[in-house]
Amino acid sequence: MELFTRMAQFDYEQVVFCYDDASGLRAVIAIHDTTLGPALGGCRMWTYASEEDAVVDALRLARGMTYKAAAAGLNLGGGKTVIMGDPRKDKSEALFRALGRYIHSLGGRYITAEDVGTTVQDMDLIHLETPYVCGISPSYGSSGNPSGMTALGVFRGIQASAKYLYGTDDLAGRRVAIQGLGSVGYELARLLRGAGADLLVADVNPLQVERAVNEFGAQALPPQDILSAECDILAPCALGAVLNDETIPRLRAQIIAGSANNQLAEERHGDMLHERGILYAPDYVINAGGLINVADELEGYHPDRARSKVERIYDIMLNLYKLSGERGIPTHRAADEMAMKRIETLRQVRSTHLGHHEPVRRGR
Ligand code: NAD
Repeated sequence: MELFTRMAQFDYEQVVFCYDDASGLRAVIAIHDTTLGPALGGCRMWTYASEEDAVVDALRLARGMTYKAAAAGLNLGGGKTVIMGDPRKDKSEALFRALGRYIHSLGGRYITAEDVGTTVQDMDLIHLETPYVCGISPSYGSSGNPSGMTALGVFRGIQASAKYLYGTDDLAGRRVAIQGLGSVGYELARLLRGAGADLLVADVNPLQVERAVNEFGAQALPPQDILSAECDILAPCALGAVLNDETIPRLRAQIIAGSANNQLAEERHGDMLHERGILYAPDYVINAGGLINVADELEGYHPDRARSKVERIYDIMLNLYKLSGERGIPTHRAADEMAMKRIETLRQVRSTHLGHHEPVRRGR
């Protein structure tokens, strides 16, 4: 792998290789872009098949965070850590403290958080070595489980999608199909039902389905039928890559708006949705509620402030749809453009001399 060629392709700033013999730490911290502020992104622990796979994953995920933060209006850049190892066998206090010291050595250029394979307890261990970590135990004044805020953001994004397509954000009587009734999907179901929507639900866990049927009067569908359900809005809240060559021709929803990460199997599937006239809410924009919430910790967590920032996903989605409509481009491409434009505009703000006081840091 030509590492600098890869870094040059998307203009990465920095890659840090972290090794610690005593704890067995082998980790990669990738910082993509800090134009808007410090790079925030979770710490993933995974049994990568090779070192190259780990580096490629860190780079890919870090860049994704740049776009996500920029589109969400946050003053944060994009970064990510990956630890090479098995989260079931290879975790130890020493490993996370060793990583914490590396993160601290970056002086706040990178802030970590929970991700696939890591937990709040792991973040607490990192916190022993550095303040540059979010998502620690609520007893330390952190923001706690982000799922409720993610669900709120998706709900507001669904309202915005309805406003754009139907001219009203009133969801009363709208049929919404939810795939996955986990931490986010179940809360989303509650909000949608509260707004008068009729729910169709599916989960591989029958207990969750039964709960939703009893609590929200939802209609249960077998998991294999939910994506092709006759409905106004489909909310994928389970797995990635659900929008692909096989599923897109079968979709019967007019709007796709859910929390799942990486819903498009490939970029071109966003183009296919556009061609079919289906309004797709780009996943990294509509599901940013959790990130917005955790990022509020950087200002000293305030739940009401975090909530009102999450609510702004409504306006962000409407602006994004407007841009897509005016330019005639698919919504997932409009999202990338919107994020890049914000970064480019702020990058070009004139470097006026600021006098001889403490330098102003953009973002925070
Ligand atoms: P979760 O694990 O709590 O819930 C996922 C649910 O999907 C589970 O109930 C599971 O049984 C169900 N499921 C799995 N396979 C299924 C299938 N084939 N058909 C139907 N249901 C199926 O996860 P979550 O935290 O609710 O997150 C849901 C999605 O949203 C994930 O893709 C996640 O990456 C994404 N996301 C979550 C957050 C957050 O704050 N939790 C933030 C951003 C994105």
